[in-house]
Amino acid sequence: MSTASPLIEPASPHVMNTYGRLPIALSHGQGCRVWDVNGKCYLDALGGIAVNTLGHNHPRLVPALQDQISKIIHSCNYYHVPHQEVLARKLVELSGMSNVFFCSTGLEANEAALKLARKFGHDKGIDRPEIVVYEKAFHGRSIATLSATGNPKIQAGFEPLVEGFIRVPINDINSLKAATANNPNIVAVFFEAIQGEGGINPMHLDYLRELRTICDQRDWLMMIDEVQCGMGRTGKWFAHQWAEIVPDVMPLAKGLGSGVPVGAVVAGPKAANIFKPGNHGSTFGGNPLAMRAGVETIRIMEEDNLLANAATVGARLKAALEAALSAELAVGSVREIRGQGLMLGIDLAKPCGALVQQAADLGLLISVTADSVVRLVPPLILSQAEADEVVAILCPLITALIKENT
Ligand SMILES: *Cc1c(COP(=O)(O)O)cnc(C)c1O
Repeated sequence: MSTASPLIEPASPHVMNTYGRLPIALSHGQGCRVWDVNGKCYLDALGGIAVNTLGHNHPRLVPALQDQISKIIHSCNYYHVPHQEVLARKLVELSGMSNVFFCSTGLEANEAALKLARKFGHDKGIDRPEIVVYEKAFHGRSIATLSATGNPKIQAGFEPLVEGFIRVPINDINSLKAATANNPNIVAVFFEAIQGEGGINPMHLDYLRELRTICDQRDWLMMIDEVQCGMGRTGKWFAHQWAEIVPDVMPLAKGLGSGVPVGAVVAGPKAANIFKPGNHGSTFGGNPLAMRAGVETIRIMEEDNLLANAATVGARLKAALEAALSAELAVGSVREIRGQGLMLGIDLAKPCGALVQQAADLGLLISVTADSVVRLVPPLILSQAEADEVVAILCPLITALIKENT
């Protein structure tokens, strides 16, 4: 676009220095492509970290949001917000659960879940409720959610942590049983169906089913953080649905508003009536613009069959990555390619942060998480041709990085 002004100085001296940023500033996008302020084009395989469900400048989302902005952006929760009921009904239908609380971000959705679990405990006479959480989990950056997070780097410097968490490894039912044996204070288990920041680590379907049974037997809330893996990314609306279970509490955010901040906590019957008026709230939560974004995102996903697209293009992308990296997989320099649908991780046997800039130089946006896992969480509109392009750019870079100094 000719209106782009050249980027003189990418550093922002007045913005607090909390991110290791690339020297890139994006100006606009179309579908799965974005352009920086210098006019360079990139294929977006990161989707704003699993946020831009419908890609950029979607031809039906943008006019709907424009219409909403011209009517009302924010009212407030002193009044009814009609689109809250529309979006809640839709989330209830898609999840098989029963009620929704709206907020604006993932950590806020998780905070609400943690508060629900504690109040669930207090309501049945447990004064010091405890919640089971997992190694390598990521639940957000507030004091409570970073305490639930299983990454010492995220916690360091912010102690004392919130108490009342018991941590276990994923996919190990015996560890869970041992850690919780004879403990009457446990009220909930809290986990991601597929860990995102932790390195794209899926919970096994058998484990999820066993855990559901244990939660029922011991009257625990099953709370599944679907902030990253939910909203169609894996080819089902919610990743836990592959195990044919239903949680009691499900935080959502990231992809729910296709870029507009929307968070939600969906609750099943066991958790739907724990909060009473005055127990919880959020000024921005459920505002008319956010609700419209959620409603239209889901509508367009249904109209365009994006769950099926995520499943088929994701499966093809995974197979193509495995084929292109077969030699590396055979010798273990690529340990595994994990994930489902359009949530994939390529786990390398060495740190690979350098790939992010290298890929950007070649016009591809990706991320690296857990030091050595390339993460691909593109918009759910990704085409097969675009998936092939991801492989063509990325795999030679991975192969070259592995060959360096070895
Ligand atoms: C991103 C993420 C969060 C935090 O969401 P924010 O909107 O950044 O607060 C929580 N849980 C999971 C699984 C996430 O991926």
